[in-house]
Amino acid sequence: MILGAQQGETAIGRWALGSPYCEGVVCQDCGDPAASTRLGDVVVCDRCCDVRIAEYTGLPRLPDPPPPFLVRGPDGRDHRLRFKIWRAPTGVEVQLDEMGLPVGEGYRFAVLGDHDADIEDLVARVRSLAEYEVGRLYLEPARHREGWVLRDDEVAGQLVWNDQAGDGRPYSVVIDGRTLSWQELGTALESYEGWRFRLVIEDSIEDVRRGADIIELPVGDDRLGPPGG
Ligand SMILES: [Zn+2]
Repeated sequence: MILGAQQGETAIGRWALGSPYCEGVVCQDCGDPAASTRLGDVVVCDRCCDVRIAEYTGLPRLPDPPPPFLVRGPDGRDHRLRFKIWRAPTGVEVQLDEMGLPVGEGYRFAVLGDHDADIEDLVARVRSLAEYEVGRLYLEPARHREGWVLRDDEVAGQLVWNDQAGDGRPYSVVIDGRTLSWQELGTALESYEGWRFRLVIEDSIEDVRRGADIIELPVGDDRLGPPGG
């Protein structure tokens, strides 16, 4: 069990999301050993989570995710990406996470659609987003030292929890699917002394909703208990 559940967890109202921040937990409903979704106080597998939410909200069950697929970057590295489809209070989210890496590392993409969105469309959108992003690199190896330099005058990535620091900060960054410390990012910028820069923070999820309906799902409601129980 990886004890990352609390630190990386994003609470949306009281309907919290889990995966993939906790892994290797047994599903409370079906015993699946790979449960990763935190729903209120329980950890369940994606399918059981969806069963609970569908029973509570009356919304249709979501389809099983497509199989993982491989994307090769321009540097020849292969990235195996795994789908996750789940219903958040704000809509249906289709995620892609890179497999075979520690929790929170590697590439990660997500698209958020309406509660009645065409799931195949969301799957196609997040897939093309992943292929586009994996297809462009921001860093290249430094020639005369260890570490990285910028290929061009732009860099983008994701801020992630820093396991090396007691309180997780300053965050590390994932750029080109690689985790760098804040220090390493700073070193990658060393040729730009005196230049101006602009730091823009963006949502981690591409929101493609037409509306913004939010479903209330109060934790502690009896109906959120095990199905049929
Ligand atoms: Zn389950």
